Amino acid sequence: MSEDFLYFLWQFQYFDKTNLQTVAGESLQTLAVGQRNTNAGPDFLNGRVLIDGLEWVGTIEMHLRSSDWHRHTHSHDRAYDSVILHVVWENDAIIQRPDGTSVPTLELKPLTSRQLLYKYQALTESKEVIPCASQFATSAEIQKLSMLDRALMQRLERKAAAVHEMLERNHQDWEETAYQLLAQNFGFKINAEPMLRLAQGLPLKVLQKHRDNLTQMEALLLGQSGMLPAIENTDNYVDILRREYDFLSAKYSLKPQQLRAHEWKFLRLRPANFPTVRLAQLATLVQRQPSLFSLFIHTETLKMLQNALRVEQSGYWQKHYQFQKEATGKVPALGKTSVENIIVNTVVPLLVAYSEAKDSRLFLDKALELLEQLPAEQNHITEMWEGLALKTKTAFDSQGVIELYNNFCSEKRCLNCGIGTALLKS
Ligand code: SF4
Repeated sequence: MSEDFLYFLWQFQYFDKTNLQTVAGESLQTLAVGQRNTNAGPDFLNGRVLIDGLEWVGTIEMHLRSSDWHRHTHSHDRAYDSVILHVVWENDAIIQRPDGTSVPTLELKPLTSRQLLYKYQALTESKEVIPCASQFATSAEIQKLSMLDRALMQRLERKAAAVHEMLERNHQDWEETAYQLLAQNFGFKINAEPMLRLAQGLPLKVLQKHRDNLTQMEALLLGQSGMLPAIENTDNYVDILRREYDFLSAKYSLKPQQLRAHEWKFLRLRPANFPTVRLAQLATLVQRQPSLFSLFIHTETLKMLQNALRVEQSGYWQKHYQFQKEATGKVPALGKTSVENIIVNTVVPLLVAYSEAKDSRLFLDKALELLEQLPAEQNHITEMWEGLALKTKTAFDSQGVIELYNNFCSEKRCLNCGIGTALLKS
């Protein structure tokens, strides 16, 4: 049993209300359940109830046992003096206000149907990775679609909030923020964190000063990554990069932010995903685009965006996955799936954040349109849902199911989920 279940019972008034009474025997009628309060203080605000014919307006507090009132030291907190109703699962203590009057208490345990309780336990005690798996097929299609829409919007808002935070750190510089987001995305999860730190320590403004010289841009990115071999050798490209980096890092005072080679992960990565190759691709992309931000926000069609992002790295990195180790075949350019990943994880969140900043629906619609045009991601989460006959055709669908699983199912937040509450109410 959890307080979340009490919130659910109260919010939807899912208990027997025939001849409803407080534990003291006063007649009770709910006029308004109030709004759930997720901040400090009582659980519901602006509730309205009739107790023995007298209307009360104020806050409502919920506990599994009435004695929790003392355990949570509400008696010493003046915010609880205005509680008009104490809703509990079991009543095991009389609660009084500082003036000696009793707090009217409603006990829900005797009023809750066994069937509802059984359904609730079936969800919360389920051993399935998706707790409602055995009942999912019985859930109405409309419930599923509306919950997936809600989950998708929640995901987009969360990602946009991260963009706003980054923007704040960058003093509202959208261009620098677009570059940092892109660099982080080029780390493809495993190296996302060092990629972001690298971009934070090597401003786009510095890179752009060398747009006429790709080797210098590679020297800046690879030198700043700490992966550039330190010892003189016969590899001419490495020697050039080292000389360029020594000069440029001194010119722009970059050394204090330089990363160390050991901060990068190569283990269990496909060679095409090695950070060395990704940095070379990033260099080419930054060189080609006078404004990454404009590219992401103003490119008209998905096709145009995909073409602009499908970059091929410089000659050396077409033959090497790592410094000084020649590859057996040609190193591939940034692939179709990687480009789609960048659109989903960089372009879309940036569009949503920009839509919020400009208070314009236009950019949000554009973000949603991109997701609807891209194919669904394939991963273990989308496969799990497909096992429950929930098909994901586009990235719009897959982003929704990923969010639903990560932030609802795996945390057993079924009572906050439209599908879960519908299953309980059915
Ligand atoms: S959160 Fe929703 S979809 Fe996930 S298991 Fe619970 S009821 Fe099912």
